[in-house]
Amino acid sequence: MCGVVGVLSPGQQAAPIAALGLFALQHRGQESAGIAVSDGDQLMVYKDLGLVAQVLDERRLPSLRGEMAIAHCRYSTTGSTLWENAQPAFRLGPQRAVAVGHNGNLVNTRHLLELLPGRRGRLAGSTDTELLTALLAQEPGDDLVAALLTLLPRVSGAYALVLMDDAHVIGVRDPNGFRPLCLGRLDAGWVLALETPALDIVGAHYVRDVEPGEMVAIDASGLRSHHFAEPSPKLCLFEFVYFSRPDTNLYGQSVHAARQRMGEELARQAPVHADMVMPVPESGIPAAQGFARASGIPYGDGVVKNRYIGRTFIAPTPETRAAGVRLKLNPIRENIAGKRLVVVDDSIVRGTTQLTLTRMLREAGAAEVHLRVTSPPYRWPCFYGMDTGRRPELLAADLQVGEVREYLGVDSLAYLELDRLVAATGSNAESFCTACLSGEYPVPVPDADTKLALEEETVRAPAAAAPEANVRIEP
Ligand code: AMP
Repeated sequence: MCGVVGVLSPGQQAAPIAALGLFALQHRGQESAGIAVSDGDQLMVYKDLGLVAQVLDERRLPSLRGEMAIAHCRYSTTGSTLWENAQPAFRLGPQRAVAVGHNGNLVNTRHLLELLPGRRGRLAGSTDTELLTALLAQEPGDDLVAALLTLLPRVSGAYALVLMDDAHVIGVRDPNGFRPLCLGRLDAGWVLALETPALDIVGAHYVRDVEPGEMVAIDASGLRSHHFAEPSPKLCLFEFVYFSRPDTNLYGQSVHAARQRMGEELARQAPVHADMVMPVPESGIPAAQGFARASGIPYGDGVVKNRYIGRTFIAPTPETRAAGVRLKLNPIRENIAGKRLVVVDDSIVRGTTQLTLTRMLREAGAAEVHLRVTSPPYRWPCFYGMDTGRRPELLAADLQVGEVREYLGVDSLAYLELDRLVAATGSNAESFCTACLSGEYPVPVPDADTKLALEEETVRAPAAAAPEANVRIEP
């Protein structure tokens, strides 16, 4: 995951606009937040572990001056939760100073590491983004645009990037466009954002998506577009299923409406006699509405979600994850007792949520639990930026649907078929990456162990974080 925003706002401070946009993307990463600003002369980075509101607070923003900014919130897929791995990544190299915010995962980091002289000890953090930033800072060329045009063809994997030097704000999408990135217009100026609600919230109007294989470079003279690779669109299908906000538009479609259609499709594919359709909040809500509409079974709330609990998804052991689910979800007993329930959720990954939830519903007196999931069995690890663990951790990796049903202890289980899921998005199958569901990886994964590669190969170099000349870094 991860959220990114880029702003160029002539006549206005860019940092408050970028911070506001980042608030709208908080769901994409809660580990760290950061911003880089430039007044055309001095590039400054401020980042820290924590939520956007904690890091970019009202006291901090006024000191971040300039008409250009990029901002980032992080959900780690490579590298640990350390200050050094927070973004924007920054590097003052022999050629330029550059700041980078990245969503996605590169898959050829071992190869890229070979392009970095001195390799070991040259990176401040242990992420693929740090490596990319270091390579950009050393790449010969007149400016950052030229450096990117040389470097990007050597980079493979998933990247939606916002970048900045002291003169440009740049947005880039990899040739497959695994992750979204859109462009919006302010009265005077431009905004780049990972999801469209960030544009709504800063008062920018949506212009278009940055295309796969496209770089847009914005500076005082306007916006220029460069196509650096042949596009082969493969948007992550999970953006529709789970990641994106419901009020986001992807491929010109409302995600909320698409999720409702997924629920409707599921009701047609796997009907069941029941008394109430309930979502697993919040991601299951629109699909449960769709299921209820198509089946005629009343929609109701069976559990309440505590919105103030952090992620349970990557808590280290199944026991702590299960405890996290209990903290997060609590049943409304009166709505459940004696009822035959249809429970609608977007996905089963490790199965922790459903195992714990099903037990909870039974304890609260549910007569039957019929689980309906708006994506096919999740069987293959993602190497393009989803943090879902290795294959043995995936519940459905080697189990048939009947075995998953038995393990979870539900009365019936149905996963939405892939073609129905794709139909619900309003696009065609060719335009999506479905690797986690089908095992078909659009970009070969030479570094299947990418997530470890950088941590093994690099050590932290204090010198890399030293402030210099026209650059100030605040720890
Ligand atoms: P699990 O409990 O491991 O089966 O996780 C499934 C739940 O986590 C689903 O209900 C989703 O809402 C959510 N989820 C799916 N994919 C991800 C992801 N990559 N990161 C965090 N949460 C996820």
